[in-house]
Amino acid sequence: MFDVQKIRKDFPILQREVNGKPLIYFDNAATSQTPLQVIDVIVDYYSNYNANIHRGVHSLSQEATDAYEDARLKIQTHFNAKHSHEIIFTSGTTHGINLVANGFSSLLKKGDEIMVSALEHHSNIVPWQMLCERTGATLKVIPMNQNGELILSEYDELLNENTKLVFVNHISNALGTINPIEYIIKEAHKVGAAVLVDGAQSCPHIKPDVQALDVDFYVCSAHKMCGPTGVGMLYGKEEWLNTLPPYQGGGEMIAEVSFEKTTYAGLPHKFEAGTPNICGGIAFGAALDYMNTIGFENIATYEHELLDYGTAELLKIEGLKIYGTAKNKTSVISFNVGSIHPYDIGTILDKMGIAVRTGHHCAQPIMDFYKIPGTIRASFMFYNTKAEIDAFITALKKAIMMLS
Ligand SMILES: *Cc1c(COP(=O)(O)O)cnc(C)c1O
Repeated sequence: MFDVQKIRKDFPILQREVNGKPLIYFDNAATSQTPLQVIDVIVDYYSNYNANIHRGVHSLSQEATDAYEDARLKIQTHFNAKHSHEIIFTSGTTHGINLVANGFSSLLKKGDEIMVSALEHHSNIVPWQMLCERTGATLKVIPMNQNGELILSEYDELLNENTKLVFVNHISNALGTINPIEYIIKEAHKVGAAVLVDGAQSCPHIKPDVQALDVDFYVCSAHKMCGPTGVGMLYGKEEWLNTLPPYQGGGEMIAEVSFEKTTYAGLPHKFEAGTPNICGGIAFGAALDYMNTIGFENIATYEHELLDYGTAELLKIEGLKIYGTAKNKTSVISFNVGSIHPYDIGTILDKMGIAVRTGHHCAQPIMDFYKIPGTIRASFMFYNTKAEIDAFITALKKAIMMLS
């Protein structure tokens, strides 16, 4: 049984006040909140078995190594990867994308094409532009329509035998659109292109099966799915990870080092130079446990109720326009009210204890498409409630009155 009031008790931060008002946290697409079940794991790590991993013979090091590798297995199971060494710990989505982009530097040449979607986060645009500068490859963009959906017929047109890589997010952080990545992957493979999916926004809401998707690379951040900041994962098919060169040199990633020649460690260590975020990795595993206990089907059903309710209530407000009206979308609502600047509304809402995001959401090309400077974005997680949405609507109406 999904019991939101019981779930809310797991999140200490949801009990606090901001500016004298109960916190209403609707900025989940930027980062999610952390349940006690994860906080406890972090406290336990630093209280009881903090040690460096993979190199100590002593007991603490062994305990830390076991817990860290156990987290890798949890991630493998969660995403249904074939091998645990296909799971690379990263510092987050951005790191994972840069690792792959850097690896492809040696594989691309002039005339090759890379494709991104019009719906990307800056972290999924800039590394590819840098890659194109280094290699002479060309960047192509899958365009979107007014609803915020990718235009697949244009994608089909753009694909050709020069396409080497396609990069697309599973869910857009700015609009909430769920992209048809199954189709995108299938078509890319027909021309021999690899596909990297940015799962930063999807992993908090759905449970991807990387083998069923047949995706080549999949990346996400723990902090958007009830885990800590500074840790994430890159899934890569074994063949690809063996093909790509290491990203960073250092400890952990080598087999043997001499001044004449260094040989690299096998997967996954080849991509994990230096001391990793050990506690973060372990807490990431705990976050997956927590979310799986609630159940991703329950999460999706409940969040959809919030999305439908929030959308209907917002649309009752005169002059309010929602950006991103895709048929398939998750619990993100991006909107503006008349010509009021999003920042002004966001500031007044904060005075009333309500956290929303305002601005371009690291997706300026989308804002350019709609010819707006930014939006107000309310994004819901499974611990939010309809009562919070009601309070938000009341506060929003007050803000609009003050500003018009
Ligand atoms: C948040 C986000 C990122 C960046 O994640 P980091 O944790 O900051 O590395 C990339 N893509 C999307 C779609 C995001 O929402």
